[in-house]
Amino acid sequence: MKNNLVFQIFLGFVTAIILGAIIGPDIKVVQPLGDLFLRLIKFIIVPLVFSSLVVGVASTGNLKELGQLSVKTVSYYLLTTAIAISIGLFIGSVLSPGKGLEISVSPQEIESQETPGIVDTMLNIVPTNPLAGLIEGNMLQIIFFAIFLGIGITMVGEKTKPLYNVFEQLAEVMYKITAVVMRFAPIGIFGLIAPTVGEYGLSVLLPLLKVILALAIGSLIHTIVVFSITVKTLGKMSPLTFFRGIMPACLVAFSTSSSSGTLPMTIKCTEENLKVPRKISSFVLPLGATINMNGTALYQGVCALFVAQFFGIDLTFTQQITIVLTATLASIGTAGVPSAGLIMLTMVMTSVGLPLEGIAFLAGIDRILDMIRTTVNVIGDAAAAVVVSSKERDLQTNKSSLTA
Ligand code: ASP
Repeated sequence: MKNNLVFQIFLGFVTAIILGAIIGPDIKVVQPLGDLFLRLIKFIIVPLVFSSLVVGVASTGNLKELGQLSVKTVSYYLLTTAIAISIGLFIGSVLSPGKGLEISVSPQEIESQETPGIVDTMLNIVPTNPLAGLIEGNMLQIIFFAIFLGIGITMVGEKTKPLYNVFEQLAEVMYKITAVVMRFAPIGIFGLIAPTVGEYGLSVLLPLLKVILALAIGSLIHTIVVFSITVKTLGKMSPLTFFRGIMPACLVAFSTSSSSGTLPMTIKCTEENLKVPRKISSFVLPLGATINMNGTALYQGVCALFVAQFFGIDLTFTQQITIVLTATLASIGTAGVPSAGLIMLTMVMTSVGLPLEGIAFLAGIDRILDMIRTTVNVIGDAAAAVVVSSKERDLQTNKSSLTA
């Protein structure tokens, strides 16, 4: 997101609060602007997720060649991502950032809460008709289809280059459309926040500070506990050396809010300071900057709970599992650019039927949330590089001792 857009969103947010507080419930006339913004977000989400995920999976290259390396890397990514979301959900339920305020939702939205049991939810991921999944906007089915398509494209290889190009171009176009829609965000956010503040008063804002706090605490726990343990046990490196070595990349990540933008710095730090061989870093880090988003996953856990609490919705166990699943996949599909996670959050929320209006509140503070989650994303990539590099080293040692 360009800096002046960030400023405009902030301005829309602040103006909405001021006018909402002054004018009161009558500010409801601007609501259609907010509704329009929500419709626009829903309009881009399916083609955006679909195309970017197909490209994300297919761009990993020749599956056989990547073989073991990708299995190790991807399992590590998936494991730490699932842990991150669980920490997010845990912190979200302990700190309850959205509690203490009852914002009503329409009966229709509450009805869409009802989700089937775990077995059915898992079975439902596989679409019997992938096009129906796309048309109905069933996110899990869309993701399943996209991943399989990506794998299929990779397996067939060279012949599918034109098909791959189509998806790549579609993804490019969707990124552009997203950027255009985002330019409307300041007005849309104004249209969503002003009526809410007008109706409920300024007390609706307190929960936002708690969201920032919850994300910061969750990120700290994930960084200090999970990364230290994995780096120490699986990567055989002192956590202190690790954190010291990766610090410059953290600063770049924090100030740019972009894992992709930070990538050159992450590579430099892991190679020079953490002594990860180029062979590993050149595979693990670019892949990580695209699909490994621990911070974004944690953020999605915290925010999904925040929105549920904010609107007084109790999430069932199955819905929480669905959040872990969709947030894992959503973080894979999140591009390493500023604000991408906010868009993907709509997917997580849609999967359990949470009202998308919550996004407007989170968008107002997204810059701060983005700085925190991107930093965790980048540390996660570097930790993966250290772990995979140590595992590969073990493999080499074993091989050479066998041949000796
Ligand atoms: N900005 C994040 C990143 O680049 C992605 C996100 O918005 O969650 O890692």
